[in-house]
Amino acid sequence: MSSPTTLRVLILGGSSEASHLARAVAGLPGIDPVLSLAGRTRNPELPPIPHRIGGFGGVPGLAAYLRAERIDLLVDATHPFAERMSANAVAACDETGVGLAVFTRPPWRAGQGDRWTEVDGAEAAARAIGGAPRRVFLTVGRQQVAAFEAAPHHHYLIRAIDPPDPAPNLPHAELLLSRGPFALEDEVRVMRRHGIEMLVSKNSGGDAARAKLDAARALGIPVILMRAPAREGAVFHDLDTLLAWIHRPAP
Ligand code: NAP
Repeated sequence: MSSPTTLRVLILGGSSEASHLARAVAGLPGIDPVLSLAGRTRNPELPPIPHRIGGFGGVPGLAAYLRAERIDLLVDATHPFAERMSANAVAACDETGVGLAVFTRPPWRAGQGDRWTEVDGAEAAARAIGGAPRRVFLTVGRQQVAAFEAAPHHHYLIRAIDPPDPAPNLPHAELLLSRGPFALEDEVRVMRRHGIEMLVSKNSGGDAARAKLDAARALGIPVILMRAPAREGAVFHDLDTLLAWIHRPAP
């Protein structure tokens, strides 16, 4: 049981940031953490702190959990595109008065030689490819692929970890099942081999998925990038700054 000066912290995970945070707070005095995982990964790497797995049951379920577990602070360290979970965290914290911090990676920024168009959402990305048929490398995650049925005249090379289910209704599509991280040389090779003319991706930030953008730059290929949804709450990109904020003296 927590002492009155111990902070009960719920970390919403499923990202490398959440794993780093879990390792950093393991055994830290003054913090009694629990990590929550959605349960999508079959054999997740288990954290060095207590954890729970599975959805809460929407905002009411999360609010009930925060109350039952006497959580003082929720750290939303989900992936930048886990939009529903993040929205639920904002609503449940509002309802219960629990503090909210967001720990996430900063988005990628275009540099010299990049030919990026940033858009909001998969529908806008599908429109932005344009009217003329193109050979498109689609790396948006299997949940977003269906939106590209609105632009069926392109040829898509769809890269995903698992096949989209249901399969998208696209007349010219090829599925490439593989899991990153990918090296720059591999990304250049795959884009060349498939004659890729455009890359469509999510602006997830971080190092693990960056190589495809560097490959597109090296090959002069234009990129359509979906922006991550805006986050509410105190947003941190740096672990030490977040830990200092968590440990800040009470006002
Ligand atoms: P989402 O659409 O935002 O969330 C869907 C539902 O999954 C939520 O409403 C919640 O169910 C449950 N959920 C999500 N994250 C949870 C967590 N950490 N603990 C407990 N329940 C959670 O999420 P998603 O985009 O499907 O992502 C699922 C997980 O994969 C997240 O943990 C995310 O960090 C990770 N991930 C996502 C992406 C991506 O591109 N979206 C990429 C890599 C990793 P209830 O409403 O029942 O509580």
